Amino acid sequence: MPVPCIAMNHLLSNRVHEIDVSGIRRAFQLGAKLEDPINLSIGQPDFAVPQSVKRATIDAIEQDHNGYTLTAGNPLLLDAIRTHLGNDVGWDMERDDLDVIVTSGTSGALLLSFMALLDPGDEVVVADPYFVVYTALGPMTNATIRLCDTYPDFRMTAERVEPLLNDRTKIVLVNSPANPTGIVLSKQELDELADLCRSRGIMLISDEIYDLFTWPDHLDETGHCPSPARGHDDMLLIRGFGKTYGCTGWRLGFAAGPSWLISEMAKLQQYSFVCAPSMAQAGAVAALHTDMQPIVDRYHARSRMVVDAFSDVTELPEPGGAIYAFVEVPERLGRTATQFCEEAINRNVIVIPGSVFSERDTHFRLSIAADEGKLAQGLEILRGMMT
Ligand code: PMP
Repeated sequence: MPVPCIAMNHLLSNRVHEIDVSGIRRAFQLGAKLEDPINLSIGQPDFAVPQSVKRATIDAIEQDHNGYTLTAGNPLLLDAIRTHLGNDVGWDMERDDLDVIVTSGTSGALLLSFMALLDPGDEVVVADPYFVVYTALGPMTNATIRLCDTYPDFRMTAERVEPLLNDRTKIVLVNSPANPTGIVLSKQELDELADLCRSRGIMLISDEIYDLFTWPDHLDETGHCPSPARGHDDMLLIRGFGKTYGCTGWRLGFAAGPSWLISEMAKLQQYSFVCAPSMAQAGAVAALHTDMQPIVDRYHARSRMVVDAFSDVTELPEPGGAIYAFVEVPERLGRTATQFCEEAINRNVIVIPGSVFSERDTHFRLSIAADEGKLAQGLEILRGMMT
């Protein structure tokens, strides 16, 4: 057996040293010690993939459709997405100047878009608190990530973004419904962001991976999750299948927007991911025809449980969707979020400190991807720690 040659680790790029995973790793290591924890840290849904979607995926494998698909995606899925986008955000995908690509997860779409647009030193504005991948994409593409402080209400408004723009800014990345806060921006807030980006010649990228998980009070007048894409098409819309249909491991998402950008993302995909997993693409055609409303209603009810549990003990800007809440550790406790989360683990509850998603260590992320019984127990314990 060859001995691993640790002395060669100086070969590692600066890029990997700049990406810090210690916070999230520490949170998971602490949690791993527990035998039967109340785990409110999970960033993926806890429901089974709908039977029709499983069937279509298995059929694809059994019918020997296991080769590469076209780089941009299985034509049947591309068609289904085009129709879906027409119905949802009103884009006419017959137009030559709009296009769509199926990607290996939403993460794949994010990476390809950053690679297609950014040169070293270019800048991207993202909200703080942020989804952890966003800040890692900076070193991965040699770009600078500028954080837009959105405390205490977690709204990434045009007013907050504007002062951060300069002549190196190429992307404003917005995520609504948001991870880790669950905040859903209003149609007006998103339009203002899109108008700001358009007026400054900046690409707005809208990561809408949680679009289906938008609670009724936060839907726009079309009955959908508010999206800047409804009314703007000089932007990149990114969505996924993993959270919506409970198949995060299948690695499937898509990006839609200007053809000049999608075609370059396809070029990069051709020489990197090659294509998204073929059997998952076959399943996703069925997924787009599946009614997920009962699941969404159930998640909404769980979100209400969270709001009710904390309403009189701490600050919690009410989540409008996604599968999270970002709860403030009350100042009167005199503890950082990291300390609070360590104490929670001592009481068998796993939640993730805000420092993993933010410059601040004042809140914790709680996931509602846990059954109602466990969620209720966890909420009682966390609430008890605040009273
Ligand atoms: N964007 C956000 C906001 C997310 O929360 C996640 C997953 N946690 C992703 C993108 C990545 O999703 P995927 O599994 O589709 O790559």
